[in-house]
Amino acid sequence: MTELYDLHCHSNASDGVLSPTELVQRAHQQGVTSLALTDHDTVAGLPEAQRCATLLGTKLIAGIELSTNWQNKCFHIVGLDIDPTYAPLAGATHKLQKTRLERAEKIALKLEKKRMPGAFEAVKNAAGEGMITRTHFAEFLISQNHVSTQQEAFDRYLAKGKAAYVSTSWAELEVAINWITGAGGIAVLAHPLRYKLTANWMKRLLTEFKAAGGQGMEVITSRMNADEIRMAADYASRFDLAGSVGSDFHNQANPYVELGRLAPLPKNIKPVWELFG
Ligand SMILES: [Zn+2]
Ligand SMILES: [Zn+2]
Repeated sequence: MTELYDLHCHSNASDGVLSPTELVQRAHQQGVTSLALTDHDTVAGLPEAQRCATLLGTKLIAGIELSTNWQNKCFHIVGLDIDPTYAPLAGATHKLQKTRLERAEKIALKLEKKRMPGAFEAVKNAAGEGMITRTHFAEFLISQNHVSTQQEAFDRYLAKGKAAYVSTSWAELEVAINWITGAGGIAVLAHPLRYKLTANWMKRLLTEFKAAGGQGMEVITSRMNADEIRMAADYASRFDLAGSVGSDFHNQANPYVELGRLAPLPKNIKPVWELFG
C-alpha cells in the first residue's frame, strides 16, 4: 500500500464540520494512511479520532494548531506528534478556550451594534463543546443573509481593521513553540504563503521560528500552484526545515480542499514524518 499523509485538518472540536470519527472515516476513504488531527487550540477530538483510527488501521498523529502572535500579526503553528497530556500544553489550551470565549463575546457585541444581534448564542450553539472560531461567526453571518460567503464575512466584518474585528493576544510565537516541543512534538509553520509576507519578512519569521525550536513548515497545502510549491520548498531548504503536507480540511463544502488530495512533497525536501518518534 502506498503511504498517503495528510497532517493538517479540523474536526468539530474546533471549526470543522465532521466529528473526529467522521473525519477519520473520510480520510480512510480518500486513501490517507497517516492523518494528523490539528484542531485550533484544542486536543479534545484526539481520543475519539484515535478509537476510530485504530479500528480502520489508519495511523493517527496527535496534533494541534496554535494561534500565535509575532510582530503584531497572527501566525498558525501546527504541533505534530505531541503528547496531548503534557501539562503546560493542557493548561494553555484551557486558557485559550477562555480567551476565545471572551473574544466571541466582544465580536458579538460589535455585530449587535451593527444591528446583527444573536451572534453569541448562535456561535456558542454551533461550537458546542468545541472551540469558538471566527469561522463560526462567518457561518452565522451567512445564515442571517448578511453575507453570502465566508470570504465576504471576513472581508466585510471579521478581518483585521473591519467593523467586528477584535484584536486578541495569543501566545507569543516562541512560547507556543515551547509548548509543542515540551510535549515532545514537532513545531511546523502552517500555510506559510497565506500570510502574504514579503521575502524579507518571511526570512525574519523563519529565522526566529527556527531559533525558537521550530523544525518544519508546510510545503504542500491545498490549492497551491507549481510556482507556490517551488517557493515554499525553496524556503524550507534554505532554512533547513522539514517539509509537511496538509490539506487544512474543514468541511465537504469546498471542492478544492479534500483530505489527502495533495501534491507530493518535492524530492529534495526532508519529510517531517521522519522526525516523528
Ligand atoms: Zn491555520
Ligand atoms: Zn487549520
